[in-house]
Amino acid sequence: MKVTEHIENAKGNTLFSFELIPPQKGKSIQDLYDNIDPLMEFKPPFIDVTTSREEYIYIDKGNGLLDKKLTRMRPGTLGICASIKHKYNVDTVPHLLCGGFTQEETEYMLVDCQYLGINNLMALRGDAMKDEQSFVPKAGGNRFAIDLVRQINDLNCGKYLHEVMDVDNKADFCIGVAGYPEKHLESPSLQSDLKRLKEKVDAGADYVVTQMFFDNAKYFNFVEKAREIGITIPIIPGIKPIAVQRHLQILPQIFRIDLPEDLIDAVDKCKNNVEIKQVGIEWAIQQSLELKAAGVPVLHYYSMGKSENIRQIASQVF
Ligand code: FAD
Repeated sequence: MKVTEHIENAKGNTLFSFELIPPQKGKSIQDLYDNIDPLMEFKPPFIDVTTSREEYIYIDKGNGLLDKKLTRMRPGTLGICASIKHKYNVDTVPHLLCGGFTQEETEYMLVDCQYLGINNLMALRGDAMKDEQSFVPKAGGNRFAIDLVRQINDLNCGKYLHEVMDVDNKADFCIGVAGYPEKHLESPSLQSDLKRLKEKVDAGADYVVTQMFFDNAKYFNFVEKAREIGITIPIIPGIKPIAVQRHLQILPQIFRIDLPEDLIDAVDKCKNNVEIKQVGIEWAIQQSLELKAAGVPVLHYYSMGKSENIRQIASQVF
């Protein structure tokens, strides 16, 4: 079922969902299952699985030289989506990136999704690779998320890349896109970023999932401004619990988001990571309860592959 259908069927009740990261290649999928199992009691109607950018690794050739290789360290998004769907009978949402893929390769993935019965997708641009100053699309690839939305929407209209084909089976994908309550880091202003979001919606996006935020006022302001410019589709808040001291530095650095003073003070007072984790859980519970009371369609948690804190939050909220 589509994410938007799950939301309609919930008739105003807030749903629970979460996002997973594929394991590093060479690691077992069992660890992922062990983290999903405790969350299934909260009946997520859909689970997202991220896709990671390719990266350069350096292999020691044993002669004092290093071999530079381009590889994807966490492959398997589609396979994981299929296995979770099969094992737990839950809808899965693979994240599709512009970065690192040609349109042709993207089309193959979309065809695979159709055969697997996966009809929800998150359409994302992806970030620059670690050694790049700014995002560079692969030759023959999509430049912005909107281009990916258009490609998916073309398939929904039965239009493949090479129009010589006789299409008797149109795709029917439900398309999610990213939104940024504190604006995307490359965007000159929130208003200009919202205009870009509106363009993605006009191109066929069905729902929005937000970047993490720690101050609900940012989300409420974002939704209000989005509604003002005619974005009417569901806007799902993304929640991440703080778990370690380092999050205070790396989350603002990576995502250009602000952390509230009260949260920073509470983390600073902690003596160890156990206490910090508890502060993060309690903050996320308060955020979730307020968002739920405001009637958000879904609370979507960034689990980063670890479920224990998400389980504790969900047990207080759902
Ligand atoms: P876009 O919508 O293309 O926007 C990127 C920037 O370009 C913005 O600043 C926008 O304002 C601007 N822009 C858009 N259109 C135009 C235009 N026509 N001309 C000029 N500027 C334009 N990353 C991963 O690598 N893997 C994941 O699985 C993943 N999952 C995510 C899930 C969620 C819910 C979110 C919020 C983010 C996720 N990301 C993921 C991160 C995402 O890939 C990055 O934030 C990326 O930098 C932007 O992606 P986007 O889809 O928002 O890009």
